[in-house]
Amino acid sequence: MKTKIIFVTGGVLSSLGKGLSSASIAAMMEGRGLSVRNLKMDPYINVDPGTMSPYQHGEVYVTDDGAETDLDLGHYERFSSQTTARENNFTTGKVYESVIRKERRGEYLGRTVQVIPHITNEIKNRILRLATDSTDLLIVEVGGTVGDIESLPFLEAIRQLRFDWGRENVLYAHVTLVPYIKTADELKTKPTQHSVKELRSIGVQPDFLICRSDRLLPADIKSKIALFCNLPAERVFSAPDVDTIYRLPLLFGDEGLGDAICQELNIWTRKPDMRMWEDVVQRFLNPKATTRIGIVGKYVHLVESYKSLNEALAHGGLPHQARVELEFVSSDELEKGDLTPIAKMDGILVPGGFGERGSEGKIAAVRYARENGVPYLGICLGMQMAVVEFARHVLDLEGANSREFDQSTEHAVIDLMEEQKEITMKGGTMRLGSYPCRIEDGTLAHSIYGTNEIAERHRHRYEVNNDYRERLDAAGLRATGTSPDGLLCEIVELKDHPWFFGCQFHPEYKSKPNQPHPIFTSFVRAALEHSKRRGEGTSSEASGVSSLAGTLLTDPPGGVSVES
Ligand code: GLN
Repeated sequence: MKTKIIFVTGGVLSSLGKGLSSASIAAMMEGRGLSVRNLKMDPYINVDPGTMSPYQHGEVYVTDDGAETDLDLGHYERFSSQTTARENNFTTGKVYESVIRKERRGEYLGRTVQVIPHITNEIKNRILRLATDSTDLLIVEVGGTVGDIESLPFLEAIRQLRFDWGRENVLYAHVTLVPYIKTADELKTKPTQHSVKELRSIGVQPDFLICRSDRLLPADIKSKIALFCNLPAERVFSAPDVDTIYRLPLLFGDEGLGDAICQELNIWTRKPDMRMWEDVVQRFLNPKATTRIGIVGKYVHLVESYKSLNEALAHGGLPHQARVELEFVSSDELEKGDLTPIAKMDGILVPGGFGERGSEGKIAAVRYARENGVPYLGICLGMQMAVVEFARHVLDLEGANSREFDQSTEHAVIDLMEEQKEITMKGGTMRLGSYPCRIEDGTLAHSIYGTNEIAERHRHRYEVNNDYRERLDAAGLRATGTSPDGLLCEIVELKDHPWFFGCQFHPEYKSKPNQPHPIFTSFVRAALEHSKRRGEGTSSEASGVSSLAGTLLTDPPGGVSVES
C-alpha cells in the first residue's frame, strides 16, 4: 500500500496547536495499529532553529542523529512510538540551500531555476523521502499561517502532491480558530471562513477542519462553518481547551476524526486501542500528592523554551500519582541575593542554557540544594554549575568557573576538552545528538537506569575538565557515568546527599507520558520524600531564608533551617 499522507495547515493565527493536533492524529492512528511518521516543514529562512533565540522560537529539540529541530518534533515523539531524525524537519533555508548547491554543480543543465518547479520539487522530494514502505501514514505539518508570503511554496507543493501521489492517498486538514466573543455570547465563524477562503484561493480545499475553541462546537456552528467552507458538517471537528494535552487523541477519536480519516483515505484498521492514553489521562487527573519543583533559568518567563523539560517533569510524577507543580525562578533574581523563591521548593532543577547572564544565581541555587539536602537535578549547564559550585565551595578553588563564562579563570573546571574537539571538528561546534554512556555499579545513576549502558542526547560545547576529576571525586562529587572510554564525564552525583544528580545530556528529550524518563521519576520521588521529611521536621514557613552574602548552615535533611 502506498503511504497515505495528511497535510496539516493552520489559519487565523499562530500558536493554535497545529503541532499538538498533528501529534494527536499520530497517536490516534497508531492506536489503530498503523505505523505513523510526522514531518514538520518550517517556512522561515534559518537553515535550522539551532541559532534562533529561545525568545523567538521556544525550545530547540535535539534528535538522536544530532539535528537541532523544531519543538513540535518533541510532541511527535511524546505522542507516538516514532523516533524522529534530521529528515523529520526542514525549513525554507534548507530547501534553498540544497537547490542553490545543485545549481552551482550544474545539475539544472543551464535552465532558469525558479520557485515553481525547482523549489516546490525540492519540497515534494523531501516530503516523499519519508513516505517509505514501512510507513502507513505520514502526517505533514506546514508551519506558519496560511496567508504568509513564506508559506506559499509549501502550499503550492502540497497542492501538487495530491495529483502526483493520488487523490485517494492525500488529505488536507486545516486548523483554525473559532473564538467565543463574550459580549455577544457567541462563537464566531468568520475567521475560519476567511482562512479557508485564503486556502482555497491557492487551490487547496480542506477535507477536514479542526477548530480550536474554548469549548466543543455545537452542531449549528459546525453546519454554518461547513456551508461557508464547502465541506460536510461531519468533517468539522472541535479541538476544545483541555485539562491535559494528552486527552486530545481521545477527544479527536470521540469526535469521529479517526473514522473519518479512514473513510476518506479508504483504509481499514483495527478498532482503536487507546487504553494507554486513557490511563495517562486518569493519572494526570487524579493525583494523590503534589510536589513543587523550582526551575532556575534565564528564560523563565517563556514556557515554550522548556517544553520537553516541563513535560518530562509532569511525566515523572505519573508513576507516583503525583502532580508536579513547576515554579520558574529567574536566576537573575537569585543573583541579587534573595533565595526566598527557592527555599520553599521540594526539589531544585537547573536546566540547560547558554551565555553568562544568571550563572551566579544558578550557582547559588546549587549551593542551597547541596547544603540543605534539597533534591537537585542539573541538566547540561545545570550539571556544569554544580561542578563549579563544588569546586569553589568544597575544593576551595577560588574563582573556579566554566571557560564559557570566564576566559581567564585560573580554575576552568568546565572547559573545552580535546576529546570533545575531535567530535565537534567533524561538523559544527557542538556535541549534538545521542552518545553512549557507561554507568558505574552501585551508584544512584545505576539505580535509576538499572543498567550500565545508556545513550542520551547532547547539545553543548563544554565538558568537565579531566584535570579536576580526581579532586572532585575524592571530595565527594563523583563521575558515575562517562563516555565508554572514560574521557568525557556524563553524570556526576554527590555522596552523602539524599538526591543530587547532574547529567551532561538532556534526558527530557526522551521522556514520554507512558514511559516517563527514569531520571525524572526518581527526581520527583526524591522531591516527594523531601517534602514529607520537611513536613515532619521544621515547617517551611518556620525555616529562615538564606542570603547569598550570609552563611548557609548545613542541616541534615530532617529539618531545613537556614540562617543568614
Ligand atoms: N553552555 C553550555 C555548553 O555549551 C551548556 C549547554 C547546555 O546546557 N545545553 O556546554
